[in-house]
Amino acid sequence: SRTAAIVGAGIAGIAAAIRLAVKGYQVDVFEANAYPGGKLSGFTLNGFRFDAGPSLFTMPQLVEELFQLAGRNPNDYFRYSRLDETCRYFWDDGTHLTAWADRDSFAREVETQLGEPASHLLAHLDDSAAKYRITEKLFLHRSLHKLSTWFNRDALHGYLNLPKLEIFKTMNRANEERFQNPKLVQLFNRYATYNGSDPYQTPATMNIIPHLEYNIGAFFPKDGMIGITNSLVRLAEDLGVRFHFNTRVVELVTEGARVTGVRNENPNGKTERFDLVISNMDVVSTFRRLLPTARQPERILRQPKSSSGLIFYWGIQREFPELGLHNIFFSSDYRAEFDHIFKQKTLSDDPTVYLNITSKHKPDDAPPGCENWFILINAPNNSGQDWEELIAKTRHNVIRKLSRNLGVDVAPLIACEAILDPIAIEARTSSSQGALYGNSSNNRFAAFLRHANFSHQFQNLYFVGGSVHPGGGIPLCLLSAKIATELI
Ligand code: FAD
Repeated sequence: SRTAAIVGAGIAGIAAAIRLAVKGYQVDVFEANAYPGGKLSGFTLNGFRFDAGPSLFTMPQLVEELFQLAGRNPNDYFRYSRLDETCRYFWDDGTHLTAWADRDSFAREVETQLGEPASHLLAHLDDSAAKYRITEKLFLHRSLHKLSTWFNRDALHGYLNLPKLEIFKTMNRANEERFQNPKLVQLFNRYATYNGSDPYQTPATMNIIPHLEYNIGAFFPKDGMIGITNSLVRLAEDLGVRFHFNTRVVELVTEGARVTGVRNENPNGKTERFDLVISNMDVVSTFRRLLPTARQPERILRQPKSSSGLIFYWGIQREFPELGLHNIFFSSDYRAEFDHIFKQKTLSDDPTVYLNITSKHKPDDAPPGCENWFILINAPNNSGQDWEELIAKTRHNVIRKLSRNLGVDVAPLIACEAILDPIAIEARTSSSQGALYGNSSNNRFAAFLRHANFSHQFQNLYFVGGSVHPGGGIPLCLLSAKIATELI
C-alpha cells in the first residue's frame, strides 16, 4: 500500500494520520517527544493532574467526525459534556459576572450586573454568528491557495457579504460601538487572545470567535483535555498507524520536485522512504531545519507571530467555591496590557489572570480538599527577554492580584508548582518563538499570509497544524488536517 510519514504527533498530525489511514495509507508518525499531543498534553505532580496547554474545548464535532470517518462509535473512545457556564469574570473593583452558555441567561446577567441592555449582547452574538457563516465557507474548510476556492457559489456569497466581516475596523472599535459598559468591551476584546492577537489591532472579523463559545458551546472532555489526544491516538493505533516516539526528524530528503523520505536523528541516520510526507512541525522550523537548502518562502516565514504564554501550574491546598472551571481576573488597563505584550514585548505589572481548575469537573484531578490551578498569562513571544526576571515579577503580581480578589493570601496555599514559559514551549514543540497559535492575526491580510496546506515546491509534501492555514487552536488544527488530506 501507499506509505506516508508524518513529522510530529501534535493534534493536527494525529488527525492527519487517522484520515490517511482511513484512505488506505500505511502511516508512520515520528515524534520527537516521548509522548503524543505536543501542546495538547498533560502531566501529574504530587497527586495533582494538569493539562499542559489548551483548556477550552470548542467544536467537539470536529473530533467526533474522525471516529465516524473511521466507522467507529465516538462514545467508545471519547466522552464530553456541554458547560452551563462558560466563564466567571472578576474585576478588581469587586464586580463579578458569570457568562452563561445560554444566551438569554447571559444577556440577563449582563443587564443586572453591568447595566448593559440585553439587546446589545444578543445583537453581538447574532453578528458573530453571521460573520462565522461567511468565513466558514470561504476560509475554514478549504485551501485558500486553490482557484476552485475563489470560483464557486459559496465564494460569491462570501464576496457579497464581505462588508459584514468589518475587516477595516479593529475588534476594539467594533466592540466600543456596540457596548456602553467598558467592562463588556473588555470581555469581548478578550476573544482576540483566543488566537494570540491584539484586540486593538486585529480586525473586527475576529468577532466570529464568541460564536463558538456562546452559540455552539464550550465543552469539557470527561478525561480532561488530554482525553482528546489519548482517544485520537487510540483510534489511530486501532487503524494501524505506527507512532515512533523519541524520534526527531532532522531532514526531509528531496529529489527534484519530490520529497522521497525522512531522516531521523537516530545514530544510524537511516533515511526511510515514503510516498508522501506531512509536516506537523511549525512551518518556520520545517523550512529552516528540515529543508535548509530548499527555497524559503521568506515573506510567509517572517510574518509576526502570535503571543505566547506564561503558565503556572499550582497544586492548591484549599477549595474555593466562588471559582469555576474557567475564571478571568481582568487587568484595569487592557490597552496598556496589550501594548506591553505586542509593542514593548514584555509583561505589564497588572496582567489579566486566566485561572482554569479542572478539579471542579473532575474531582480526582486534585487530592481531597485541594484544587489544581492552571494559570495562564498572555505573554509576548520570545525575542530574547530575561524570562527569569519576568517570571519572578509576574509570579509576584499574580499572587497579589488573586489574593486581593479572593480575600486570602494565596502564596502559602501553593503546595507544588511547575512553570512553562515561551522558551520551554519552543523547546518542547518547535513552535517558532514559542508562539501559541503560529502567525498573529493582527493584520487584516493575515489569513492570506499563512502557509498553504501543501508545498508549492514539492508535489508530495503537505503541512498541517497551528502554524499553517487556517490557523491555531484545536478546531482549526483539526480542519488543517482535513484540508490537507482532502488535497491528496
Ligand atoms: P503542536 O502541539 O505544536 O505539536 C507539534 C508536535 O510536533 C510536537 O509534539 C513536537 O514535538 C513535534 N515535532 C516538531 N518537530 C519535530 C521533528 N523535527 N521531529 C519529530 N517531531 C517533531 N487551543 C485551543 O483550542 N483552546 C485553548 O484553550 C488553547 N489554549 C492554549 C494554551 C496554551 C498554554 C498553549 C501552549 C496552547 C493553547 N492552545 C489552545 C493552542 C493549541 O494548543 C494549539 O493550536 C494546538 O495544540 C497545536 O497543535 P499542532 O498540531 O499545531 O501541534
